[in-house]
Amino acid sequence: MNIEKFQESMYKLIVETSTNLPKDVRRAIKAAAERENAGTRSAMSLDTIKNNIKMADDNVSPICQDTGLPTFKIKTPVGANQIEMKKAIYNAIAQATKDGKLRPNSVDSLTGENSGDNLGGGTPVIKFEQWEKDHIDARLILKGGGCENKNIQYSLPAELEGLGRAGRDLDGIRKCIMHSVYQAQGQGCSAGFIGVGIGGDRSSGYDLAKEQLFRTVDDVNPHPELRDLEEYVMENANKLGIGTMGFGGETTLLGCKVGVMNRIPASFYVSVAYNCWAYRRLGVAVNPESGEIQEWMYQEGEKIDFAQPAAQEIAAAVEAPVEQNVVTLTAPITEEQIRELKVGDVVRIDGMMYTGRDAIHKYLSDHDSPVDLNGQVIYHCGPVMLKDEEGNWHVKAAGPTTSIREEPYQGDIMKKFGIRAVIGKGGMGAKTLASLKEHGGVYLNAIGGAAQYYADCIKSVEGVDLMNFGIPEAMWHLNVEGFTAVVTMDSHGNSLHEEVEKSSLEKLAQFADRVYK
Ligand code: SF4
Repeated sequence: MNIEKFQESMYKLIVETSTNLPKDVRRAIKAAAERENAGTRSAMSLDTIKNNIKMADDNVSPICQDTGLPTFKIKTPVGANQIEMKKAIYNAIAQATKDGKLRPNSVDSLTGENSGDNLGGGTPVIKFEQWEKDHIDARLILKGGGCENKNIQYSLPAELEGLGRAGRDLDGIRKCIMHSVYQAQGQGCSAGFIGVGIGGDRSSGYDLAKEQLFRTVDDVNPHPELRDLEEYVMENANKLGIGTMGFGGETTLLGCKVGVMNRIPASFYVSVAYNCWAYRRLGVAVNPESGEIQEWMYQEGEKIDFAQPAAQEIAAAVEAPVEQNVVTLTAPITEEQIRELKVGDVVRIDGMMYTGRDAIHKYLSDHDSPVDLNGQVIYHCGPVMLKDEEGNWHVKAAGPTTSIREEPYQGDIMKKFGIRAVIGKGGMGAKTLASLKEHGGVYLNAIGGAAQYYADCIKSVEGVDLMNFGIPEAMWHLNVEGFTAVVTMDSHGNSLHEEVEKSSLEKLAQFADRVYK
C-alpha cells in the first residue's frame, strides 16, 4: 500500500468528520427545528445550532470544540498491514491536532498532563477487523465527553426511577431506553441520538451500543421487533418535554438505533450510548493499493446547508416574539444587576470573560486568582486555540463544556473571588443554586456544541494564565461581543434544570405500564 496516500486519506477523513456534519444528521436537525414552536428557547437554540453547522462548513473548523476521543472502526482485506496503517493514523491525528481541526484531548489519567497531539495510551481508539471484500472500510466517530458521560448501562432486572420494575424482556428493555433519555436531560447537548446494545457483557454491550451510532439516522432496522422498539422510542421519548439543551420543547431525541447480541444466562445488559446533536461520524472506502479514497459514506439524500447569515438569524431568533427578556451585561457586573435577572431571560455579554474548567476550579479553590475576578464572568470552556507566526492566539472553536463537574467548587469560588456569572451547559446542582442566592450570582446556559458561533463572538484573546494545565484547561482572557446565553439558574433560588427534570419525571411515569406483553 502507498502508506503516505493512506495517511492523507485518514487526514481528510478526520478533517471532514470534525467540520462537516453528515447529511442524515443535518436532515434530522432541520426536521427538529421545524417541529419546534417559534420564539421558544429551544427554537432559539436550534437556530444557533444550524448557524454553527454552517459556520463550521464555511471555516472548515470544528463543529464543536470537544472533538472527543477519536474512534476508528476499520475493516481490511486479508493481507493489509495493520501495523503500518495504525502508524499512518497516528500521524494524521497529530497533524489534524496541529492544524486546529482536533482539540488536544489526550491527558494522562493520573497526572492530568496533556500530550498535546491527541496521542497516548489508548488514544485514539482503532479497532481493526478483517473482511473478505477487496477494499478498506474506514469509519470514524468523534464523540465528545459531555454526551459520553451520559452513556448508561442497565443490568436487568432493575428498579427504574419513574418506571418501576424493568424485567428481563422486551418491555424491560423499553423502560431502560426511555429512562436513558430521561437521565441524560439536556446534559449531553440534546437533542441527541442513542445507540442501544442488548445483551453481551459489560464491555461488548457498550461496543454494540456504539456500533449502532454508525448506522444512518433514517435506516430501517431489519429485525421487526427492534424496528417497532425504535419507532416506539422515537414517538414517546419526545413526549418527555426535555427539549434542546434541556430548555423544554418538542424534540429531545433525533434518532434511536437498537442492536442485539447473545448473552450468558446470568447477565442481561442493556447498554445505551448517547450522542449529542453534533453527531460527527463519517466513513470512506479506501483502495488498499493506492491508499486513496474511492468513496465517501453517509452521502445519500439531500444536503441541508443551513445557509443563512449567522448574525441575522441569531438577531432574528433573539428578537422574535419570545417570552424572554433580553439584557446586555458588561463586566464588572454588580450584585444589583444580577438580582434583576430571572430564569428565562436572555443575556448578551460584551467585554471580558475568563475560561475555567476542572483544573482551574480546583486551582482557584486552593490558590489566589492570577486576575481580579471581582464582578467577572467565568466561562466553562476548553477552546481549540491556534498560535500564529507572530505568537498571537486565535480561537478556532469555543462552545461551553458540561458545568456539573465544577459543582463541588463553583459556589465557594464565586463567593471567594466575587464572581457574578458563570456560563456553561447542562446546569448545576443544589449547592451552586444556594450560593447563587446567598452571594448574588447567576448561571447562564450557552448552547452546547455551538463552538463556531461562540468563537465568532470572541473579538480578541487578551491573555492567558496557567498554561501549564494545557490549552483546554488554561485560563483564557477573552474579549467578547454579543455572546448570548439563557439564564437557567437565578439568584432567587429558581432553576430551569430542576423544573424540566421534575416535569419530565412526571411524564416518564406515564410510560410505566406494560406495553409489550
Ligand atoms: S455538542 Fe456538547 S456533548 Fe457534543 S461534543 Fe460538543 S460539548 Fe460535548
